[in-house]
Amino acid sequence: MSSNNNESSNKQQQNIEHADLLTKSLILSHEDFEKISTLLTKEFDRGLRSTKDSIVKMYLTYVRSLPNREEHGRYLALDLGGTNVRVLLLEFHGPPSLLSLKSSQRRQQQQQQEPKKPPIEIIDSSMKPIPTEIFHGTGQQLFDFIAEFIVEFALRNKLAGVRIALGFTFSFPVVQQGLAEATLVTWTKAFNCPGVVGNDVVRLLKASLKRKTHHSIPFIDVVAIINDTTGTLIYGALQDKNCGIGLIVGTGSNACYVEYLSKIEKWPFNYSDPKQVVINCECGAFGDNHVIDWALTNWDRRLNYESLNLNKQIHEKLISGMYLPEILRRCLLTLIELGIVFEGKTPIELFRPYSIKTKYMSFIDQDNENDENNFPNTRKALADMFNSKNPLFKNGFSDSDVKIIHMINRRITKRSANFVANALWTLAIRIDNVDVAIAYDGSLICLHPYYRSWVEEKLNEFIKKTGIKKRFRLIHANDGSLYGAAIVAAICYREKRPKFIKKRGKIYEITRF
Ligand code: ADP
Ligand code: MG
Repeated sequence: MSSNNNESSNKQQQNIEHADLLTKSLILSHEDFEKISTLLTKEFDRGLRSTKDSIVKMYLTYVRSLPNREEHGRYLALDLGGTNVRVLLLEFHGPPSLLSLKSSQRRQQQQQQEPKKPPIEIIDSSMKPIPTEIFHGTGQQLFDFIAEFIVEFALRNKLAGVRIALGFTFSFPVVQQGLAEATLVTWTKAFNCPGVVGNDVVRLLKASLKRKTHHSIPFIDVVAIINDTTGTLIYGALQDKNCGIGLIVGTGSNACYVEYLSKIEKWPFNYSDPKQVVINCECGAFGDNHVIDWALTNWDRRLNYESLNLNKQIHEKLISGMYLPEILRRCLLTLIELGIVFEGKTPIELFRPYSIKTKYMSFIDQDNENDENNFPNTRKALADMFNSKNPLFKNGFSDSDVKIIHMINRRITKRSANFVANALWTLAIRIDNVDVAIAYDGSLICLHPYYRSWVEEKLNEFIKKTGIKKRFRLIHANDGSLYGAAIVAAICYREKRPKFIKKRGKIYEITRF
């Protein structure tokens, strides 16, 4: 090897070591996470005492009952997302008519019937993009647009003359007064329709449905409004009766769980059955009162200071798909300025905030630390991210640059997974059961190659280090935000419906709807 080559490889080694040292702040020890878990517990407790005086709001969803496979019939779901509105018609194949079955036969049948798959069938679904003018039109225009879409869908499915329940997933911040009452706190995403903030969105939807209804079309009964985490939990609960937590890790991050009423000081009603309710934690706001500032890096702090929501959603800024690439970009800029990466020259693309796509982080993470193949995905991602005509990269990317970028990318995604595991653990220890199933959804946790297994690894570490006995099962509740709404509607009707009575040794089905 010539002395020139030797020099270059020494320099590269130095750069790697330097980058390693500078980005160690992205790694938190297990003791750090135990501290963070204790802090989060305090915020959870505060939120359960009072919504007004807390950071982590622990909103009551009023979803009290979970699916028990006795749901029956057809239901509608409506999901108002950031860009589309979706509607779904679902049929539950609940228990068959048990009329005149002997109880031993019935028990036997139920045992045989412990199905692996949820007992639901999708009859039809439809999606429509929300037109630009609707985003800024009046609230009435928005809800009329949605109502027309539902009615059209109902007619296409020959639901004329039928009474049918609908569950509504509305993923905007609301304060609920009941299962079907929700006041919009503020619009987010691209929406800004006047006349909705401060109003009950279920009432607005019902009013629009009434306007669009005439005698030949179905009566649509809006029975519940939920958010995406609750939908995910409910869909998970249909698959596993131990499902006690719902988790979303996509553009944003949030979780919900099932809590006993007796542990909720702010519960405004009596403690009648069912003695539990789903709590929407809104845990993305953890840290907004600076309690985890010590765990943040300078890159996190600068991202926060330059964000549109200063000192808001600190936990979410460490976790979610919207922010992780921005942490990576900022970290890279520092290393470039110090001459550790790209020979100190910044590719122009990196100057633009939020310019890196989260999918590249998944792609880069697919490479392995001790990769014999020399990080092929990282090289491909970089080639895709930066202009190929940039003279800086005419000979491709240096081995040390690639290795360093892979290293910091992984530190950022892994820290995110650890924060998620920490929040899940902090929730799980509030749940009495040893077996805790967690339903999750969202593109980051679902599409990243290792994210889910890192979450599981960290949960196992908590079990080992604390000695607390827990068994976790992660369930992918795909599109739970939509299915959950239909399931909640089914639960509402199940609860209203007297089912079977036993008379002189025989079982009678006394009502159907
Ligand atoms: P939303 O959270 O808006 O309901 P998703 O759950 O699909 O929708 O999340 C979308 C977000 O997930 C994107 O904004 C992006 O940050 C992230 N994302 C998209 N694709 C990937 C991917 N391949 N790997 C990791 N994250 C991704
Ligand atoms: Mg979503």
